Amino acid sequence: MKPLEGDEAGADRERFHELRCLEDIVSQIADQRFEKAFGGDVPPEAMKQMREHPDVFDSREDFDQVAKKEGINDPEPVLGFSSRPEEPAHIKEGPVPVEIATKIHEDIHRSTHPETLREMSSTSELRGLYEGLTEYFTQRGVENLHGNVEAAYPEELAQAESLVSEAGEDELKGYLFRHEFSEEIIEAIRRL
Ligand SMILES: [Zn+2]
Repeated sequence: MKPLEGDEAGADRERFHELRCLEDIVSQIADQRFEKAFGGDVPPEAMKQMREHPDVFDSREDFDQVAKKEGINDPEPVLGFSSRPEEPAHIKEGPVPVEIATKIHEDIHRSTHPETLREMSSTSELRGLYEGLTEYFTQRGVENLHGNVEAAYPEELAQAESLVSEAGEDELKGYLFRHEFSEEIIEAIRRL
């Protein structure tokens, strides 16, 4: 087969990972779902940075080690974590639908606007709400993936759902990924 040439080939190589092992397929499904759900909301630079430093799938033993190094004392219930947007998230090996959901969840963290992240980390209530919102959008990303993927942070998710019904999904995506916000969002968050 004649190799692809020119810009088109470059774009294709950039867009699609090389598939060498099963985790690459998991990654690709998660990435394509992420881009479909949030590609229009995440600034291109943030998306590029994330794709240049792809997330890592770890065996349980490796995950426990890296998690402890990051200060997570009890990694057992943790499915994944991301410390900095410019660094890969770590995802613990598990059932494929859970791995895909975890990767999307961590990638929402990685692409959260730094100002939004700062605001949403300022109190423990807001941190809980931020996890709920992240999980709300994760559930959007895994729709019709493989039955229902059980949601993480069920209580915080319920709180996020009521915020979404008040402030609107598109508005909250704008706040999350681009730090765009209206008085309505700030008011709705205050009321929670
Ligand atoms: Zn999270």
